[in-house]
Amino acid sequence: MSPSDPAQLHHTSIAVAGGGIIGMSVAWRLAQQGWPVTVFEKETLGGEASWAGAGMLAPGGEIEGPSELATLSLQSRRLYGAFVHEIEEASGCRIDYQECGGIDVAYSLDDLARLEDRAARQAEIGIPSKPLTAAEIRAFWPRIRSEGLAGGRFYPEDGIVNPRELVAGLRCACTRLGVRLMEHSAVTAGRIKSGAVEVETSSGSNTYRALVIAAGAWSGSIIVDGPSPLPASEPVKGHLIGYHQPEQTCSTIIRHGSVYLLQRANGLLIAGASVERVGFHREINPHIVSDLARSAGFVLPHLEETVPSEKWIGFRPASNALHIGSWHSTHLYLAYGHYRNGILLAPVTARNLADTINASLQTR
Ligand SMILES: Cc1cc2nc3c(=O)[nH]c(=O)nc-3n(C[C@H](O)[C@H](O)[C@H](O)COP(=O)(O)OP(=O)(O)OC[C@H]3O[C@@H](n4cnc5c(N)ncnc54)[C@H](O)[C@@H]3O)c2cc1C
Repeated sequence: MSPSDPAQLHHTSIAVAGGGIIGMSVAWRLAQQGWPVTVFEKETLGGEASWAGAGMLAPGGEIEGPSELATLSLQSRRLYGAFVHEIEEASGCRIDYQECGGIDVAYSLDDLARLEDRAARQAEIGIPSKPLTAAEIRAFWPRIRSEGLAGGRFYPEDGIVNPRELVAGLRCACTRLGVRLMEHSAVTAGRIKSGAVEVETSSGSNTYRALVIAAGAWSGSIIVDGPSPLPASEPVKGHLIGYHQPEQTCSTIIRHGSVYLLQRANGLLIAGASVERVGFHREINPHIVSDLARSAGFVLPHLEETVPSEKWIGFRPASNALHIGSWHSTHLYLAYGHYRNGILLAPVTARNLADTINASLQTR
């Protein structure tokens, strides 16, 4: 077989199942390390959770205390600025990334006490925040509802990114490095062999050096004849709404209870998000949209009389744990279970998994 023989090429290359932010970030890092990579995407690249996600990069709002997720989230947050910059350089695409910080507001003393308790636990793992009086919030965030405001907490290291622009940049960066991007091509099964994986797709099968499963909420449905079935994955649906606001009316992330607001550079002010365990149902529920709009209008009264111009849903990829690594020391690798933090966790997932795969394949 000559090196240009397609069968030989597949044998030395790595397949990635899933072209969301996780699969594309891993593919890009592997390609940078010199591996030929093919990404199989069953629909369109970046069209699922990575399109739907709000784009908060917010350990301050997401992390309650010490855990593996906390460690990885903080590492990933620190990598983010350089990650975005590198993709912009590699792709020529501009990506909206804002080091804007985040604020949690409380409208009762109990809520304020809960914020203070959480902040104390977070401080121990390196998440800084500072208390804010109601007067300070009124002065610096004049659009936030002031009646009944008890105080809040500011998280200077929280930020936001536009995940749609990030995925567009990754797509371009991958293409420039020669990654094969196969849309409308689903991975249906992986057969683990000695030193390789036979990958069955909707467009045929081939043997690859390794297979990475990064199919988000669908990951667990890929059939693998390995040592045991893959960990299950489950979709957790979320509704989001958006308001086109020509001026910047929300300069940081604003959180109140389970609702958050943020504004992209293109003016879209986003409010989210519901958490629903209803399977893969794509319909938009008008009651949930109304509830979100009411909550958004409570925190930012200038939205009370405004009808959201956009509403959409997405499926967060949940699993029993965050899976990043080899499956039973085989050439099958997992990259799923990122649930509500996959945008935040993309840089660390890509770096850690690409390094693991590279080190492992070089020595075998
Ligand atoms: C409402 C909402 C708000 C969110 N907000 C945030 C946030 O603010 N910050 C944050 O960090 N995260 C957020 N998230 C979570 C984040 O969006 C996800 O964790 C992240 O996008 C997961 O990326 P992924 O690449 O694993 O999954 P996906 O983006 O879903 O990509 C998986 C891809 O695999 C494809 N696929 C499926 N099966 C197959 C197959 N058999 N073969 C080939 N391809 C396949 C799918 O079509 C899909 O394109 C939010 C999610 C939702 C839904």
